[in-house]
Amino acid sequence: MLDTKILSGIEASHALYDSLHDRIHTLKEKGITPGLAAILVGEDPASQIYVRNKTKRFDALGLKSDLYRLEDSVSQKELLDLIAKINADDSFHGILVQLPLPKHIDSDKVIHAIDPKKDVDGFHPENAGLLSIGRPRFVPCTPKGIMFMLKHFDVDLNGKHVVVVGRSNIVGRPVSVLSSLKSLGNATVTLCHSGTSDLKHFTQQADVVVAAMGSPEFLDASFIKEGACLVDVGINRIERDGKSVIVGDVNQPSVTGKASSLTPVPRGVGPMTIAMLVENTIVSAELLLLN
Ligand code: NDP
Repeated sequence: MLDTKILSGIEASHALYDSLHDRIHTLKEKGITPGLAAILVGEDPASQIYVRNKTKRFDALGLKSDLYRLEDSVSQKELLDLIAKINADDSFHGILVQLPLPKHIDSDKVIHAIDPKKDVDGFHPENAGLLSIGRPRFVPCTPKGIMFMLKHFDVDLNGKHVVVVGRSNIVGRPVSVLSSLKSLGNATVTLCHSGTSDLKHFTQQADVVVAAMGSPEFLDASFIKEGACLVDVGINRIERDGKSVIVGDVNQPSVTGKASSLTPVPRGVGPMTIAMLVENTIVSAELLLLN
């Protein structure tokens, strides 16, 4: 039985926040307070919690964050007009549109309308393109947080086999690109998805598994090799013993004792996602000074 190390996202995120104070101070000395405009459409309870947690962190660090709350019935044009207004407002260095959007709004159109230089979520095609050619500017927050966490806990990817399960543009695909970049991970990467036949064949070879599928507790001990590091990105709400609980994509009790390390759910990757949104907004303000 291995003594599985728990990789705390709370610890790693605080290490990042500690490193940001000097950068925030330097910007403020130059009269710049990094600012985020967060747009929330509708009343989805989970989205409300996510946005509140994000803006709370900006407030705690003395940064600017304004929340724009729009009715579920807002038209696409009204939303695009608001984005155009924020694009032109120099006090905002980052724009976050909380997803998912109501069905009558084309999310791609909205993402494409954000000024790529304020795209702190890293979803704009210009930023996705820069990442794919190995010149990352704004990297999506969850993958960037995963990379920070692995480095913080000395999980060396160099020459290792990383198996990513899930190919979304928000998590899986950018993690696979980051892990493979020579300057960052330098790992050999396999990207799996629902069309992968015999998923186990791949995960059992992995030194590091990144589980980003959205399937509660799907990956149990039979999927992994002894000593693997497991990054559990999933956030799944399930009913257990009459209670509503949040679990990841990894069956954590099953892999404990077989994995060398594991990110918990909650308090694993989640806090890193917020921390990286703050970092990206600071990067945006710093880039403005350079240009
Ligand atoms: P998506 O639903 O967009 O993507 C899921 C991916 O997993 C798809 O590529 C899908 O394949 C693949 N997949 C699903 N089931 C299987 C399976 N049985 N075998 C292999 N591949 C499978 O989800 P997201 O990437 O947005 O999110 C993934 C999870 O991470 C969710 O639980 C989400 O809540 C969580 N999340 C957590 C964050 C955090 O901060 N901790 C941030 C963002 C997301 P295919 O492409 O073929 O459909």
